[in-house]
Amino acid sequence: MNVCGNGWREWPMITFGRMATPHADAVPSLTQLTEDEQLLRISVREFSTGRIRPLVREMDEHAKFPRALIDDLFGLGVMGIEIPESYGGSGGTFFHSVLVVEELSRVDPSVGVLVDVQNTLVINALLRWGNSDIKQRTLPKLASKSVGAYALSEAVSGSDAFALQTRAGLDGDHYVLQGRKLWITNANEADFFIVFATISPEAGYKGITAFLVERGTPGFAVGKKEDKLGIRASSTCELVFDQCRVPAANVIGEVGKGYKVALAALNEGRIGLDEQMLGLAIGALDHAVKYTKERKQFGRNIADFQGVQFQLARTATEIEAARLLIYNAARLRDQGKPFLTEAAMCKIFSSEVAERAASLAVNLFGGNGFVKEYPVEKLYRDAKIGQIYEGTSNLQLQTIAKQILS
Ligand SMILES: Cc1cc2nc3c(=O)[nH]c(=O)nc-3n(C[C@H](O)[C@H](O)[C@H](O)COP(=O)(O)OP(=O)(O)OC[C@H]3O[C@@H](n4cnc5c(N)ncnc54)[C@H](O)[C@@H]3O)c2cc1C
Repeated sequence: MNVCGNGWREWPMITFGRMATPHADAVPSLTQLTEDEQLLRISVREFSTGRIRPLVREMDEHAKFPRALIDDLFGLGVMGIEIPESYGGSGGTFFHSVLVVEELSRVDPSVGVLVDVQNTLVINALLRWGNSDIKQRTLPKLASKSVGAYALSEAVSGSDAFALQTRAGLDGDHYVLQGRKLWITNANEADFFIVFATISPEAGYKGITAFLVERGTPGFAVGKKEDKLGIRASSTCELVFDQCRVPAANVIGEVGKGYKVALAALNEGRIGLDEQMLGLAIGALDHAVKYTKERKQFGRNIADFQGVQFQLARTATEIEAARLLIYNAARLRDQGKPFLTEAAMCKIFSSEVAERAASLAVNLFGGNGFVKEYPVEKLYRDAKIGQIYEGTSNLQLQTIAKQILS
């Protein structure tokens, strides 16, 4: 009999034969990397360990990247990952960007965010919304020497980003920008800024327009640099626009459709920041494992105590769960499938995992966890930003709740 009955309807029996044997079109595991992806991971890991690690403490103390390090990131090919080779870029995928940010953040999340904003926000937005003239003017430089920044937030508009007040008025073939942006990552290093302003505050989000503003444009200045708790080497500054004339040809996307540019970039960029948090958590666990295998108390390595082992095991499990969420969201994005809720879930989860992993590392280092001579207090400070930028944790929960209640 090949049907099973429930009294009122017959159901065809499922045939498991083909499913039981692994076959060519079986779905690969999310963490299975292609040969290219494995090579990329190895190269960036070597760079992070050899080139970045010796600079981490100094960059944190001085709150600055040496320009030579940024030049080396360009040389490595990680500042224009998705830029097509025809523009001088690396011709990679979004998933490649995610892997790079993970490996960099494992050693220094400040470097992770520099590279993340460049790739997953700025370049991503220009590739999708820039016309061919804008692409010609920006992409070859962004792939070879120029840093980019993404300027949406203002003093009055953070979570409620579209309440922004920076004005853009048309004057001949230019727009005149007036206003201030706050919290802009990469502002100190950037040559290109994607700036969101409103052409009509009464139109609400439908007035928002995205502009390309170049460093050196009269009326535009990078203002005060923030003195931060964590990711200190990454610059976070105010931008000031005072009668700043931007050619109308610098509108990115369509006039009044800047909200689409902003949302699309943020939704994708968020996955990169999740990866920054994942990298941080892995870095913290690496340090904790190494230290607990060396530090002796009660005549034994502290890693020999089951209480310590269980804490490490729980962190490793959380890291693996965060990795699966993030890799899934990134691969969905590369396949052109919806990923909004998945990205929000990654953000809330990975930022919490990072905070817990860094906190555990500090605990397991004991007194040494509390001083700057050891690397984990920095990771603890760095972890906090994951719950704030590119949409706070509450805003991510709002996105998830909206989806499940719809
Ligand atoms: C280091 C750093 C780098 C940054 N880089 C950039 C950048 O490159 N470009 C850029 O444009 N911006 C950037 N930002 C800004 C960042 O995105 C904002 O700080 C963030 O979106 C939060 O906005 P806010 O600071 O105004 O906080 P607020 O929006 O005032 O939020 C304060 C608190 O209220 C909660 N809250 C607000 N609204 C709700 C609600 N509806 N329901 C429940 N809770 C709510 C929030 O979750 C939060 O806990 C950066 C910020 C920092 C600190």
